[in-house]
Amino acid sequence: MRIEEKELVLPALYIIERDGAVSTSDLIKELTAVFNPSGEDAEILKNRKDTKFSQKVRNLKSHRDSNDMGGYTNINSSGKYTLSDAGKKYLHDNLIQIEYLFSNKFDYEEVSKAASLIRKSNSKKHVVYVYSEDEMISEGKTSIKDTVVRKRSKRLRDAAIEHYKNKDGKIYCDACGFCFEDNYGELGKGFIEIHHEKPVYQYSDDGFESYISEALSKVKPVCSNCHRMIHRSSKRPITIEELKGIIKK
Ligand SMILES: [Zn+2]
Ligand SMILES: [Zn+2]
Repeated sequence: MRIEEKELVLPALYIIERDGAVSTSDLIKELTAVFNPSGEDAEILKNRKDTKFSQKVRNLKSHRDSNDMGGYTNINSSGKYTLSDAGKKYLHDNLIQIEYLFSNKFDYEEVSKAASLIRKSNSKKHVVYVYSEDEMISEGKTSIKDTVVRKRSKRLRDAAIEHYKNKDGKIYCDACGFCFEDNYGELGKGFIEIHHEKPVYQYSDDGFESYISEALSKVKPVCSNCHRMIHRSSKRPITIEELKGIIKK
């Protein structure tokens, strides 16, 4: 899976809003750190310093008359990008989706797929819904201000607990086997965190019920310690299989 130039527009707007006026080389640095391109996009172009990925970021500027960057950004006197009002609005409308993708550091292929979905949803009538992992971590004490996202995420969390719990109603960490109820009794009953192995999103016009089995295949129950370890590296989360290997060692 390779990312297309137009799919970089929204992520680029996010960086410009976050960091203020940015140059193309800033954008290359930041977007490379966020996306961590792999495969063909990570290959260096012949006789150049650019990878295929960084070339696409560069093209955002050289093609700005024909891509959306023209309407969404301005170029200031130092040649740096700033957001136009239209760019601010577009970013704001998609902020939750883009923050979710950025904060979870999914694999390049997954981020590319999701970025493509979000972009296409903007040109159609239906919206892409995302689910937050935060809601599932702290049971209510969440950093997400959007109540709709919180409610939706809680629904997935509840469904995941229902799906993964044992016959006796207990739920175990997928990585280390820890059970809160076994260790904390009544206090720990029904407690678990839910990790998103892949981005969880849904079209607004798909019903939750029809979509739920696919969503459940992307999440896993983990205890709080294992969950922290999974997300410890700032580069990318490790997989549950990797963590199991580490615990075994
Ligand atoms: Zn665990
Ligand atoms: Zn997680």
